[in-house]
This record gives sequence, C-alpha cells and structure tokens, in this order.
Amino acid sequence: MFELHPARCNISTKMKIHAMNYINNTTTFQEALTSSAKYLMYPSNLSGFHNTETTLRRSMSGRNVFCHTGHLNLPERERLCSCGCRMHLNSSRNIYIRHLSIGEHLTCLEFPHHQLRCPSCGATKSQNIPFKAQGHMITEPLHTYTRDLLAKGTYTNKQVAEITGLGENVVKDIDKKRLQELYTTDGGTKLIKPEKQARFLGIDEFKLHNGHRYATHIIDLETGHILWIQNGKKKQVVYDFIDHVGMDWMDGIEAVACDMNSDFEEAFEEKCPWIQVVFDYFHIVKNFNDKVVSEVRKDEQRRLYEEGNIEAAKALKKTRYILTSNRSTLQKQNFVR
Ligand SMILES: [Zn+2]
Repeated sequence: MFELHPARCNISTKMKIHAMNYINNTTTFQEALTSSAKYLMYPSNLSGFHNTETTLRRSMSGRNVFCHTGHLNLPERERLCSCGCRMHLNSSRNIYIRHLSIGEHLTCLEFPHHQLRCPSCGATKSQNIPFKAQGHMITEPLHTYTRDLLAKGTYTNKQVAEITGLGENVVKDIDKKRLQELYTTDGGTKLIKPEKQARFLGIDEFKLHNGHRYATHIIDLETGHILWIQNGKKKQVVYDFIDHVGMDWMDGIEAVACDMNSDFEEAFEEKCPWIQVVFDYFHIVKNFNDKVVSEVRKDEQRRLYEEGNIEAAKALKKTRYILTSNRSTLQKQNFVR
C-alpha cells in the first residue's frame, strides 16, 4: 500500500480515503479527514484542478458521493484575447462535474467556473476545462470508462448507468455517439457497409410504439449482427438494403429466412433469384400453434363442455398458456441465433 501524509504530498488532487472508514464503521468520513491518520493518495490526472477539501454527500438516489471541492487553474495564455488585450474575470459560478466512482461510492468535482470579458473589444468566453468530456458535465476519464463498459456489449444501458452513477439518458447519448463513430460516415448520416460478408440473412418486421406502425430489421444469422433497420414492412425495405450493400455483397448470400406471408420473399426473388428463401423455425411453429394446435384445442374443449366434463375443459385452457410461453421462448432463441 502506498501512503503519504497529505501535507507533504504535491499531487494536484488529494483524494483522501481514510482506511479506517472501510475497516471500522465507527469512524465517519469527516472525522477521518480531520484526524491525523494517514490517507491513500494517488494522482488524479485532472489537469489544472487543485483539491482543497473533500466532503461526503448523498446523491438523489441515496448513494454516497465524495465531493472534491477546489479550484481550476486559469493560465495567463487563456486570458489573452484575440485582439491582444488581457481579459478580465466577468463572473463565476460553482459547477459540478461527475468523476470516476471509487468502489460503490460516486465522486464529483466542485469548483468556480469563470467567465472572461475583454475590456477593449467586449469579447466574452468561458474558462476552458481541460478534463471535461464534450457535451456532458462529466470528466474525460469517466466518459472513457463508460464507453469501455458499453463496448463490452455485456451490459445493458441501464446496468452501465447503475455502475457509473450516470443518468440513463447520458449513457444513451454516449452509446449513440460511440455507435455513430463506429458504423456511420458523413457526420452520422450514412451507415457503412457490413464489414463481413454474410451467408445467411434473417428478415422480420416488428411493431413500433402503438402497434399501428412497423419497422423491419435484417440480421446476419451467423453473427447475430443487425445489418439494417428501416421503417415499414414493404418490399421497399429490401430494395433499399440491397442498394446499400450492393450486388457484389448480395452475390455471397445463399439463403434468407423470413415469415410466410410477407412481401420480403417476393422482393428477394425478384432482385436476387439465386438466394434460397426459407421459412424460419419460429414462424413455422407459430403458425402451427395458431392454426392447428389452437383449433384442435378449441374443438376438444367444446366437446368436453358439451359432455359436461368441465374440469377437463378448464385444464385445456392451461395447455394454451403453456403453448404461449413456448412461443416467446422460441422467439427469443430465434433472435439470439
Ligand atoms: Zn479583445
């Protein structure tokens, strides 16, 4: 363990954690800070920030927050206006910036943020915060950590929000930007072509919001990667997808799985006749359940009611429930694969 006394330490941010606070709950954090005990110290990498005090607060959700108060350096070169004059401090207000968590505790920085004004030409500007992530009131290290968690692909956005202590909308924004950088060009307006040649595609529509509108997605059945999502469930979706990937890429496709009563089958046969269209497992079982099993069950139930065998008829209702759950299981398997 690396220990230094804070008074002798020349590290920009003094993140003081009293070891006793973790070993023995009888010592409060404030007591720990004012005691003569030794602290764990480590560099913060928050350029220009000087921590003068650390207090323990509570977040809205009741989590502990180590709040590092202090000040941010204002270098002389930053005060130089483009007209050549030295800018004056016009106003300042305290701001809060979220930083990396320490274990289960959240942390934040609090310091006065200055507004500068040129006495000669009247130009104004805000003090630069070198460690702040663009577009969010969080530090660059927290931003990078959040992106890394999202990139792992094993956590949902909600889980990432819980781990980092960030709001779900902030996590969603960071993820959207990350995905745009990875998969789009022209400032996020144009999707890049699939990196890998697929052999088998799956296409299906899904309901949006109120169920009156649909969207369609196309996936690579071997990798599970989503290749295309578009509003609507008509042939145009297939035409637009083929335009996007190009005929050379479509040459490598051997088969496409779709449901039995969609326009997709026709669209693929029309544009790429070499592709074998197959009906996927989920839709075959679903149709079999809806049109065969369900009808037989209703007939049988009717017959049992007529014979006065009420108990047996009710038991058949339960069977229907089991079939319904099987359908959702099948649906899950279908999309994971
Ligand atoms: Zn000026």
